[in-house]
Amino acid sequence: MGSGNWILFRTYTVKSGCYVVQEQDVLELKKKIWKIPTILKISMFVWRAASGALAVAERFTAHGMPVDTTCELCNQGVETIRHVLFQCVKAQELCDELRVAPDQLLQDVSLIELLKESLRLITQETLEKERRQAVPWILWMIWKNRNSLLYAEIQESKSILVQKAMEEATLWHELNKSPSGELIATPMQGVVKCNFYARAWITRDYRGMVGMHARDALIPTSDRLSAEMQCLLWVLRSLRDLRIERVCIGTEYNMLTEAIQNSSRWPRYRSLLQSISAVCLEFTSIEFEIESRTSNMVAREILTSVLRDGRFRSYLAMGGLSWLHDLIHTEASIVNS
Ligand SMILES: [Zn+2]
Repeated sequence: MGSGNWILFRTYTVKSGCYVVQEQDVLELKKKIWKIPTILKISMFVWRAASGALAVAERFTAHGMPVDTTCELCNQGVETIRHVLFQCVKAQELCDELRVAPDQLLQDVSLIELLKESLRLITQETLEKERRQAVPWILWMIWKNRNSLLYAEIQESKSILVQKAMEEATLWHELNKSPSGELIATPMQGVVKCNFYARAWITRDYRGMVGMHARDALIPTSDRLSAEMQCLLWVLRSLRDLRIERVCIGTEYNMLTEAIQNSSRWPRYRSLLQSISAVCLEFTSIEFEIESRTSNMVAREILTSVLRDGRFRSYLAMGGLSWLHDLIHTEASIVNS
């Protein structure tokens, strides 16, 4: 092989490597966005920002519309999403007032990095809680403030805006706290959330209200992954038979989602993975979410009862059995604010 070929090959892999890393980065950020402790409207806004789907001047030119791309608020740069949310004088004024913002040194990095850093700040315990938990609300305020300045020429005082953001964040956190202090992720409206653990599953709507739950006898299998796959297949078929169309599956086992995403890397499980992807196609929309032990608590509790009471008969129940009521009620009241 000549050196020319080697260089070409090397350039190609480096490039495609970078591309893959970047895509993975965006995907990971987008998954995290749905878990931001905030209202749905703000999660959707941050998701649109990460997707490059906010109407800023640079986006218009990217779509072929000849507009002046200079930021009209500060006249100091191209109006990109990154500029509006992080670099513009108007954005920095609000961040300074909140006293929580990505490091100035990070100003040169990408929008995705800045968004990731903002999400990280929400949980950074060295920062004052009332301020850091208001970060999602501040991003939203920055955007709303930009729009009212541009289109309505209204300027609210920055201290009032930040005060409002902090109050809304505090109120939201008060209403969404579980006894253990952990926040519970709820699916988007219209999507049924289904958690499963071994051979037990439970569905909840976006308000956290329990729909159905079921359990099935355990089938001995050779290894954990194939057990999880068989269980998932049973869960998916049950949901399909119940005519649920949009579903978000919560699992504690990330190797399972990894296998579904990259089935070619798991040849040993080919036939199970093929069956899973065939059932997946029957849903209007389906997504997978990795759950912590706590957030998967109800599904775990159902399974524990199967083992503890020796109740190996399968069942499908609507709305929750008496022994589950307390637990379900607790979870529903936490998320149903
Ligand atoms: Zn600007």
